[in-house]
Amino acid sequence: MDKNDISNISINEKAQACAGVDCWSTRQIEGIKSIRTSDGPHGLRKQPVGNEKTDLGINDSILSTCFPPAALTSATFNRRYMAAMGEAIAIEAIALNVDVVLGPGLNIKRTPLNGRNFEYVSEDPYLAAEYGKAFVQGIQSKGIGACIKHFACNNQESYRMIIDACVDKRALREIYLYAFEQIIKFEQPYAIMASYNRLNGEWTTQNAELLTDILRKEWGYKGLVMSDWSAINNRVLALKAGCDLEMPYSGEARTREILQAVKNKESGINEALDASIMKLKELSQKCQQPKPIGSFDKDKHHALCRTIAQEGMVLLKNDGILPFKATTECVGVIGEFAKIPRYQGGGSSHINPTAISDCYSELIKRGVNVDYERGYDIYREKVKARLIKRAVDLAGRCKIVLLFVGLTDFDEYEGMDRKSTDLCKSQLILIDEVCKVNKNVIVVLCGGSAIALPWIDKARALLYTSVSGQAGAEATADILIGMVNPSGKLTETFPLVEDNPFAKQEVLGGNNAVYYKESIYVGYRYFDKLNKKVAFPFGFGLSYTTFEFKNFAIALNKRNATVSLTIKNTGNYNGAEVAQVYIGHETTEYFTAKKQLKGFEKVFLNCGECKKIEINLDFDAFKHYDTINGWQIDNGIYTIMVGNSSQNIIFTKDISIINENICDDVCDNIKNTAETNIFINDYFVNGEVDFEKFKAIYEKPLPPLMKSEQLFDENSVGEDIKKKWLGRLMMFVSKLFVNKANKGNQNKAARVNLIKGMDTVPLRCLAVMSGGILDYGSVKHLVSILNKKNSIIKGFIAIKKEKKYK
Ligand code: BGC
Repeated sequence: MDKNDISNISINEKAQACAGVDCWSTRQIEGIKSIRTSDGPHGLRKQPVGNEKTDLGINDSILSTCFPPAALTSATFNRRYMAAMGEAIAIEAIALNVDVVLGPGLNIKRTPLNGRNFEYVSEDPYLAAEYGKAFVQGIQSKGIGACIKHFACNNQESYRMIIDACVDKRALREIYLYAFEQIIKFEQPYAIMASYNRLNGEWTTQNAELLTDILRKEWGYKGLVMSDWSAINNRVLALKAGCDLEMPYSGEARTREILQAVKNKESGINEALDASIMKLKELSQKCQQPKPIGSFDKDKHHALCRTIAQEGMVLLKNDGILPFKATTECVGVIGEFAKIPRYQGGGSSHINPTAISDCYSELIKRGVNVDYERGYDIYREKVKARLIKRAVDLAGRCKIVLLFVGLTDFDEYEGMDRKSTDLCKSQLILIDEVCKVNKNVIVVLCGGSAIALPWIDKARALLYTSVSGQAGAEATADILIGMVNPSGKLTETFPLVEDNPFAKQEVLGGNNAVYYKESIYVGYRYFDKLNKKVAFPFGFGLSYTTFEFKNFAIALNKRNATVSLTIKNTGNYNGAEVAQVYIGHETTEYFTAKKQLKGFEKVFLNCGECKKIEINLDFDAFKHYDTINGWQIDNGIYTIMVGNSSQNIIFTKDISIINENICDDVCDNIKNTAETNIFINDYFVNGEVDFEKFKAIYEKPLPPLMKSEQLFDENSVGEDIKKKWLGRLMMFVSKLFVNKANKGNQNKAARVNLIKGMDTVPLRCLAVMSGGILDYGSVKHLVSILNKKNSIIKGFIAIKKEKKYK
């Protein structure tokens, strides 16, 4: 497409069209049809017709299938289901008239505390890339667009709208951008969403290095860049940096800013505007492709949810008590999650499911004789002694106890982080007390991220059901009684209690910076580097059967290595196993991980069956990012490791790369070719990184401290403005409005979280997300009232005049 294709569009229309027309859609103008977006990522959260204008989706959306969120689907290690889920969501999108699905979320799980980890794939970039490629391929194969998000380094929820993620170049490319790069190159998603935070000093929505130099020029991205909802800081700078579309509609002020920049003949503004409008037109044309009309098969999609959930649940411990047989003996089912399952996380990804089951009923359907006690109240954080006592009484009467515990919506939720990796107090007491009176406790654990398990020795078995979607309870019951053999693998390390410096909540200094001091040592790379023990390693998961790995071989072909092996099911259940291939490369020239996942394959085997598998490692699997020369493949020795978890390596073989050739010749004197990266020998001391060392690898000036006497501005958050009585009043009134708008929401935790979260949201975002009560133009008046540059009355008159929310 060239400029002529948009020559009939006026500047005015262009300035308007590069922002949403409401909460979810783009503006229709001559020659460009409106595009309808919807969350995402594991189902559709479409607002009922009529509510699109101002409804961000706090209340219930139209029914759609709630597939298992990424935390579980990725644990299947099965690309087929990742793609199948994408396809099914696209079919629902067609039925609900949605053009672009806002997902998948590809941010790396840097710390288990990120309150939104349930929506993300893994601590490992390769797995995140494989998941994203399959999922995007699935969605786009049906003519629906995927919008991959949140680009980039939105790895925590606390203060996500104001932090500056400071990441060194190696970690940025190898860990945080890797999945995005792969998906862009292989799948060309229709859209990508720039995140809320700053990255290395600049808001991602106006970060030209990220959005233009890397994304467009280096990776060759052809699709559209949109902002996360209300993430734009300066619209003109964002446009020039390559952020094509502002979402959602924020009022008319920003259109005026663009027009003013055009009038002032600001350099690059016309070109930027044209480029964005062309992207919008291209996207709109792609979305017009003919698609089958119709509804979707709810039962079929529910069945797919169940299959995925069966494959993604991870059996962490089993001394043989599982699977248990449904006999006449009574099984004690304890824990409210057995009746009210937590099958997805809270926030923008919250789906209103087409059906929902609970494990208590599912066990009864399967002939299990059960008795039930709540044990705790998922809607209250308080310990309830009466509930615990009743549960303990039941546990004392039963031979086996199924104890359902996990993270509640108070623990993990979009917009806030977890305070620790522990379960809440009431559940910890419950586990303790129940295990005192019953020695046959099977724990069923839900939650979207790693959880501390100090109590694990007291349980005979532990099934991690993660966040398993609307058919999760059926899958759980299937696994517990042995109708299905579990085969999920952990996509993130479960550390020993708090034994992870990155499992601490970051306290922001005077510059809102979060320093990614661990560099490339994220997840298992960190624990490997420091030889630290973990509770359960990345890639781990048990089965009811046993497998034997044999006949390991590697075939080398200059720029290719093919790993082959046979896996045999040597036990008494049919089941599946995942072969995982890691590569290690030790050098003192630059930081390297002891091992990095570079290939995997899942294989299903009947009892006694044996299958050969091959996993190809192409040349790129060996590359590292050189801070000056970009991606490079270093001469040297590489260790290929094959196992069924990152810590159970069964086969190892050294190979070498000499002048771009992979070969068998392993000698110690191969000369390293990497030259420019910084290596600090004792980078970690007692597991921590000294700030000066981080500064050396960061290679940029750190963000300056803000002046303490600074006045309020549009980036002041609720917490800041509450320091003044007027700010307290403003926040009080805003919360009243939000509370009112949120009344219909049955989930108490969701209501509480939304209100709590407002304290860390900057004024500019609060206004845009206020559902039309305020708009972006009002912010400067609010700020001038707070800074006493304007009286309250004059300020509110100005807001009233400003607000032209259409
Ligand atoms: C989230 C996005 C989501 C958008 C629209 C934002 O707050 O970060 O992931 O797509 O809202 O709901």
